[in-house]
Amino acid sequence: MYFSAFGGGLMSQLTVAKFGGTSVADHQAMLRCANIVKNRPETRVVVVSASAGVTNHLVRLSQENVSTQEREQIIAEIKAIQVNIIEQLEQPQKLLGQIEALLTELAELASQQSMQHTGQTADAIMSFGEQMSSLLFTQVLRSVGVDGERFDVRDVMATNSLYGKAVVEVDLLATQAQQKLLPKLADKVVVTQGFIGRDGLGNTTTLGRGGSDYSAALLAEALNADNLAIWTDVVGIFTTDPRITAQARAIDEISFGEAAEMATFGAKILHPATLIPAMRCNIPVFVGSSKEPERGGTRIQQTVASNPTYRSIALRREQTLVTVKSPAMLHASGFLAKVFAILAKHELSVDLITTSEISVALTFDNPTGSTQALINSTVVKELEQLCEVSVEHGLSLVAVIGNNLHQTSDLGEQIFDKVEDTVIRMICHGASPNNVCFLVPEQAANGVVEKLHDTLFV
Ligand code: ADP
Ligand code: ASP
Ligand code: MG
Repeated sequence: MYFSAFGGGLMSQLTVAKFGGTSVADHQAMLRCANIVKNRPETRVVVVSASAGVTNHLVRLSQENVSTQEREQIIAEIKAIQVNIIEQLEQPQKLLGQIEALLTELAELASQQSMQHTGQTADAIMSFGEQMSSLLFTQVLRSVGVDGERFDVRDVMATNSLYGKAVVEVDLLATQAQQKLLPKLADKVVVTQGFIGRDGLGNTTTLGRGGSDYSAALLAEALNADNLAIWTDVVGIFTTDPRITAQARAIDEISFGEAAEMATFGAKILHPATLIPAMRCNIPVFVGSSKEPERGGTRIQQTVASNPTYRSIALRREQTLVTVKSPAMLHASGFLAKVFAILAKHELSVDLITTSEISVALTFDNPTGSTQALINSTVVKELEQLCEVSVEHGLSLVAVIGNNLHQTSDLGEQIFDKVEDTVIRMICHGASPNNVCFLVPEQAANGVVEKLHDTLFV
């Protein structure tokens, strides 16, 4: 319990709850989420994603050279998703008017964008999914008797102007959330948007695909919340993606460190940055299914009862491997610094690294939704001024996650023997006690994960 800063009332625990795209896909799904909020009165802040499929439509609208006909068709499809929800609600006319006003604004931006593409307009376009879902979810919440109020997260979620992957200004967010958001929580449940923010120029920004988890974690931190709940379409974090193998099973409890490794290495269930704010403030995170809330879920916290050697396997597809090779590297200092200076200039972040006498291999993630090749010809040309460069695609990164892996003697037997018929293109081990990572050909990836899962967890 804590004494609230507003009105001096005594408020119980504060939970920030986030509902993902499938959880707010249609009226029935939204209704289930509304009941989750109703049955858990400590949930005072609700962060919603766009209804499933809407952001993918918006990605297309945010591109250039989209024909008028295609734009109209996409907007009609987005509208149909909203109208299906509105039809189930009271006062549909008022809501329909609000959604139509948003869609008119969206159509105008998409038309501008098709003629002249800018990152700023792309982000403005991408924000409409969350703008609409938060409007509708507030109404669904009211329909089950919860006093919900929609709040524009852009009034507190301050970011820089790196459109498409804006960086949040955490201190400014905290000050603004304490001033503008916290006072509302005394008597309302606030419904707000994940994924979007606003830069210092007043323009809408986005935090990167899947960013609503991160938004919710940041808001939990800014509001000093006691808990963060991520409601999604599976009953918690599994030993691996349940879409890869039916043998995957839910984990009851997992440490921040392990879960952060999973998120970083591709477990889509959490946006990679989600646990950073939670760890900073030691806020426990719950992950559960909005379809089956009664089945419980996974608790992520600082310390957990068991720390098994092998906890889970994550898979990240579409990795790019760049090998730079130069005889000048032999006994020379400063070569890597020059390579990294070029990468930093292009804002490319390196994932895995291995080195040999005269060459270095580096991997780069290709975040879902990115429309350009990350390692483009400009980067390659600049690197070629220094060394020979080769770029390989079609690789997946497998990460085995657990505890004390850097001190474990049976990795060869437990991991590599089991995939001996697969070409392992690169191995990274030793930097972290929590992971062993390696690259395999894309087409072999699912099979590798299945085999390893059978060995380590079944
Ligand atoms: P949301 O729309 O709620 O944010 P996502 O689709 O982003 O949901 O994430 C949930 C999905 O993450 C699951 O349906 C599952 O396929 C995938 N996933 C990947 N790895 C894991 C894992 N280790 N445990 C559970 N789900 C995982
Ligand atoms: N709607 C955004 C996306 O689809 C953000 C999210 O769902 O987390 O990427
Ligand atoms: Mg997600």
